[in-house]
Amino acid sequence: MIFYHMENKIGSFILPRLEILRSKILGNSYLDKISNGVLDLFFPKICFGCQKEGEYLCQDCQAILGISGFHHPPPNFGGRQTGNLSDLYWAVEYKNSLIKNLIQKFKYEPFIKELKESLSLLIIDHFQLMDKPPNFTDFLLIPIPLEKRKLKWRGFNQAEELGKELSKFFKIPLINDVLIKIKETLPQVELAAEAREENIKGVFICQHPELVRGRKILLVDDVYTTGATMEECARVLRKTGAKEIIGIVIARAAPGQDQ
Ligand SMILES: [Zn+2]
Repeated sequence: MIFYHMENKIGSFILPRLEILRSKILGNSYLDKISNGVLDLFFPKICFGCQKEGEYLCQDCQAILGISGFHHPPPNFGGRQTGNLSDLYWAVEYKNSLIKNLIQKFKYEPFIKELKESLSLLIIDHFQLMDKPPNFTDFLLIPIPLEKRKLKWRGFNQAEELGKELSKFFKIPLINDVLIKIKETLPQVELAAEAREENIKGVFICQHPELVRGRKILLVDDVYTTGATMEECARVLRKTGAKEIIGIVIARAAPGQDQ
C-alpha cells in the first residue's frame, strides 16, 4: 500500500490515524458486512513493532517478546494468598513497551477489537511452549465482567474477546453471563494497591450459581497487577461453590506499572 512506502516519519504520523479509521469501520454496524479481506486491502494491518504490513504483531516481533514456556506464577500472588485463586498463568511482562502499546490500543482509543487475535495468541503460545501443558478439559472459561457503562463505552469486553479465542483453543465453553458487575468502580489503574481491594469489594455477583457449583473455572483478564479484581471474582465464585479457580492473563504488571 502506498502509505507504507513513505518515509518512516510520515508513516508514524499516518499509522495511528489509519488504525482509528479501520476500527471505526469495524465498529460500525452498517458496515459490519464488509469482509476483513476488503478492509485489509484499503486499510492494511501494520505491525505495532516494526510497521511491516500484514499483521498487528508480526512473527519476528512476537519472537523477540520472549514468551516463556515456563509456568511462573507471581510469588504469593504479590503478597496475598487467600486461596480463592489457586494459580495464575501469564504469557508476558507488561513492562515491555510493545506489549503495553498493543494492550492499550485494544482497551482504550482507538479500541482495536481485532487485536484480540494477536493478544490471545501470546497466551496460546505460552501454553504451546510448555513441556507439560496443563489439562483444562473439564474447566469453564469466565471473563472478568465489565459494568454496563464501560461496556457501552468500549463496545466490547476485552476479557470476553480473549476468552472466546481461548475457548476455541482449549475446546471448553465460555460463559459470559454467570458473573456480572453490578456497581461502577474507579479504574483500578488509578489507585494504589491498598485502595484497589476496597474499590472492587462487593461489586461482582454470580447470577447463575447452578452453572458454577462444583466446577473448575478459568478466569480470563488482560493484565494482572495486584490481583485485587481477579481475587474478588474468585472469592464470589468460591462462595457460590466453584471447586477450583485459575487465572489466565496476557501480561503480568508490577504494581504501579499498569498506568
Ligand atoms: Zn513486526
